[in-house]
Amino acid sequence: MYNTGIYIRISQEDKIKNENESASIINQRNYLLEFINRQSDLKFIKEYTDDGYTGTNFERPGFNSMLEDIDKGKINCIVVKDLSRLGREYINSGMYIEKIFPEKGVRFIAVNDNFDTNNNINDFIIPIKNVFNELYSKDISKKCSSILREKKKNGEFIGAFACYGYKKSVSDKHKLVIDPHAGIIVQRIFKMYLDGMGAKKIAEVLNSEHELPPMLYKNENGLKYNNGRKIFKTLFWSSSTVLYILKNEIYAGNMVQNKSYRENIKTKRKKLSKKDWIIVKNTHEPLIDYDKWAMVQELLKKRNTKTVYGNSSHILSGLIVCGHCKMAMCRCERKSGAYFMCGTYKRLGKQYCIRNKISAEKVMIEVNNYLKNHGAFKNKNYYSVSKKILSNIEMGFNNKLYNIKELKKRLLECFLKGIISENEMKIYMCEYEKMQENIKKSLSNFYKEKKENNNENIITREKVGEFINKISVLNSNDIFIVGK
Ligand SMILES: [Zn+2]
Repeated sequence: MYNTGIYIRISQEDKIKNENESASIINQRNYLLEFINRQSDLKFIKEYTDDGYTGTNFERPGFNSMLEDIDKGKINCIVVKDLSRLGREYINSGMYIEKIFPEKGVRFIAVNDNFDTNNNINDFIIPIKNVFNELYSKDISKKCSSILREKKKNGEFIGAFACYGYKKSVSDKHKLVIDPHAGIIVQRIFKMYLDGMGAKKIAEVLNSEHELPPMLYKNENGLKYNNGRKIFKTLFWSSSTVLYILKNEIYAGNMVQNKSYRENIKTKRKKLSKKDWIIVKNTHEPLIDYDKWAMVQELLKKRNTKTVYGNSSHILSGLIVCGHCKMAMCRCERKSGAYFMCGTYKRLGKQYCIRNKISAEKVMIEVNNYLKNHGAFKNKNYYSVSKKILSNIEMGFNNKLYNIKELKKRLLECFLKGIISENEMKIYMCEYEKMQENIKKSLSNFYKEKKENNNENIITREKVGEFINKISVLNSNDIFIVGK
């Protein structure tokens, strides 16, 4: 059994800086007494305190009274929190630990440094090793980051999670392969944007389809994932999520890394400027051609200029494309009449496509002819197909209702796991319930329409969609209709 004294020192510097609460007298005392309680061979005798004394010399009353008690045989063991409490200088501390204490038969323990003269007799090299270890581990982490840098330069993916649209290859975790489901969503996002939709509208479309946003999608696929951005926003698709995807060159098949860094684990990541990014071309299968990706970047730059998106309720919207660039044509209204124009030309100018334009009336005449020639208006035939479409629509509504139920469940899970606060949960629950209500309303309207709708011989969006796959316009006289 060792008769143990605890030695506590707090310097003036510690007090002024007050940077380290754990350096305070009370903290050190509690810490050391707790430690002694846990040791079966230590018996607490006395506390020695130097309040406001520097560690650079040993002219301290508490320290001296401790030495006196050692000489009197009152204590034969000293416990400190860490070596720096004994003294700042390793040489002087070393003298006590290596020579004076052992000569007097005193055991010395520095708890935080894992140092105990009983275990490492006269081996003062241990704490010095500790210092060396500290330096060494810094060196290792430097080396490690330079290896990572090298990997990035080789185009190897080193992140913990592949970005949305890709997954890590099973055979080589530094390689990205397309995630079949999310990949299609990414492609659709680019397509919708090139077709003239804004990021906000795209987010709305994805939300209306109850497509899981990247964070939930990754959770769904068993990845514990937190994107660092505010989770609150990531339960839905938002325009910023869409923009983040549109801007990311990774989707054009080029590996982009080193966009941010952090000095150490405790500090926040800092964004790096584009010149520090490490971009390696053609490291994986692209989800979008580089040319189209570049076009999107041009468009994003011009984001402030208003883009005209053809009235989405127009029965031809989404079907009519420019025969030259294959992008959607947008519908424009003029006093002289409505017309369709190549959306690329309209938004990017003549360096990207020609001024391809056609009157809406002309297109509608062609569409009407096509539908007539393909039996769209032969009542019997149409009726039977139409039934199928109606049941598809009905199924669509029901699917949406089911999906919302699932989203609600997931929201609750997020709340129970502590990912979101109760308040956030309530806000979104409320949103989901609103959506649910809206869908139920639409569904009952649909049933009403279904009853009332006996008018078969008009061109409807439904009918166009049923018979026509695509309308390609080369110029005002060349229209090609591709059927289903
Ligand atoms: Zn075009």
